[in-house]
Amino acid sequence: MPEGHTLFRLARQQHAAFAGREVHVTSPQGRFAAEAELVDGRVLDEVTSWGKHLFAVFGPDVVHVHLGLYGKYTSGTGLPPEPRGALRMRWEGPGEDGEGVWTDLRGATACELLTDGEMGLILDRLGPDPLRRSDPAKAFARISRSRVTIGALLMDQAVLAGVGNVYRAEILFRHRISPFRPGKAVTEAEWTAMWADLVTLMKAGVRSGRIITTRPEDRDRKRGAASRTDASYVYRRTGLPCRICGTPVRTEVMVGRNLFWCPTCQAV
Ligand SMILES: [Zn+2]
Repeated sequence: MPEGHTLFRLARQQHAAFAGREVHVTSPQGRFAAEAELVDGRVLDEVTSWGKHLFAVFGPDVVHVHLGLYGKYTSGTGLPPEPRGALRMRWEGPGEDGEGVWTDLRGATACELLTDGEMGLILDRLGPDPLRRSDPAKAFARISRSRVTIGALLMDQAVLAGVGNVYRAEILFRHRISPFRPGKAVTEAEWTAMWADLVTLMKAGVRSGRIITTRPEDRDRKRGAASRTDASYVYRRTGLPCRICGTPVRTEVMVGRNLFWCPTCQAV
């Protein structure tokens, strides 16, 4: 599932390509047709993200998208391709130079039209987002009261918005915290350090479009950009030796997703 940095990038790209101009909004598949008609031809004010949610603001109406596991945007310039398959929503705009720009959405969990009030209700339900100026103390207030494991809490979007399976596994490893530790046993100093680290890692993710959490000295290849297999400490490294201590990395399902951790480095 795309994590917060992907949505932040999409918001920025869509804003740059479409905002301030009229957008031709359609739903070739038909599932979003009635809503598309309501905003079709209107000027797009802005596109923003919060956590894994994308909001495109057309005056008082907001197109809300959550990609879920299978949602995907494709985009390009010039004339869009002939619509194929389950094309839920298509945007077409003049682009900066008038040559045309388009983007297509398929497979999203949510693609709906909301009022700005309804958008506010979604934002109220979401925890702080490390990519936005938001307050990490709000997340800690919930973590520090909870008996739920920190591995589960980090995936709870009401606690923290934007972190998914990869950042969850990696941030816990980088701070040597067991995913099975109850939230209430995480100290404020540990949380403050984790939040600061998430801000740095996720901003790097926005820049590169990839999640890279390893320090160069911990990679198999120490020089150059991190290769695919060198990008993480524990994520998708089941059975491979921990980069720090050599213990085989373990995996187990937690909150419906595979959790990865080093039982030695993250013993408590
Ligand atoms: Zn280890």
